[in-house]
Amino acid sequence: MKNIAIAIHGGAGTITRASLTPGKEKAYKDALKEAVEAGHRLLASGGTALDAVEMAVASMEDTPLFNAGKGAVFTNEGRHELDAAIMWGKTLKAGAVAGVRSIKNPVKLARAVMEHSEYVLLGSYGAEEFARTQNLDFVPQDYFYDAYRYEQWMDARDSGTTSLDHSEKSGKKEKKFGTVGAVAVDAEGNVAAATSTGGLTNKKYNRIGDSPLIGAGTYASNQTCAVSCTGSGEFFIRAVAAYDVSCLIEYKGYTLQQACEEVVMNKLVKLGGEGGLIAITPAGDIALPFNSEGMYRASKKNEDETFTAIYKD
Ligand code: ASP
Repeated sequence: MKNIAIAIHGGAGTITRASLTPGKEKAYKDALKEAVEAGHRLLASGGTALDAVEMAVASMEDTPLFNAGKGAVFTNEGRHELDAAIMWGKTLKAGAVAGVRSIKNPVKLARAVMEHSEYVLLGSYGAEEFARTQNLDFVPQDYFYDAYRYEQWMDARDSGTTSLDHSEKSGKKEKKFGTVGAVAVDAEGNVAAATSTGGLTNKKYNRIGDSPLIGAGTYASNQTCAVSCTGSGEFFIRAVAAYDVSCLIEYKGYTLQQACEEVVMNKLVKLGGEGGLIAITPAGDIALPFNSEGMYRASKKNEDETFTAIYKD
């Protein structure tokens, strides 16, 4: 029997013990546990890695705690524009959407793009037109509203910051990236990855980050690993971060840990990119590296106890 395993993230950034109340910390850990265990149950009952990552990401899209689906950040115009991607390591098929405004679960639309269209990446209105042919749930913009995100947007707007999801209330520049993602390996040794996000608070000009870009924020290949990233998207795009982890394994013979170390702790740091990623191999090895102060993360392998963590130590 091969290993089954799943790992998820709920974003990385300036997440310190001081910034979370015990109640909020528990709420995040409970939400992570619920999502990772739902995906794991599916794998344990013979489900595919593709179904497991879609289910785990959809579960996090449905909670306002994360910057994806419900609870997505506000754009500069006070709207919500969502990006998502999914990739199946068995076939290297992928689907993604960028800048959608009325789809309840963007990850489901990304999967529909992968399976029912001849394209890989659809944007804004076109993606929604396609969604109408796919029997997916549409919601009004105020479905995504969350009071905390609104406050974050007000802070960013008032301080004239146009791109980063941050708050300077503590006097220290905080960056929080609440994107969600999942990677999994199923009993047949197939890997998959999915990522979903509202992007950066106060973003302008239909800005699109790394999450829906195959190779940047999301990648999966049965030859190497599956990867989902979170952090300052522009840097992850320039580093082609997710694919770089895969390439180091494929072309240089690195282990998963070595490849993650190189990309997250060396290459991205040199560029100035903050954040982290989750990665899994067909053999069931898991890596959860990040160069920021924290990353919401969880994993479950076979019958091992569920792991959840937020901070560095
Ligand atoms: N990487 C995402 C983006 O740049 C942000 C995040 O990870 O929260 O859109």
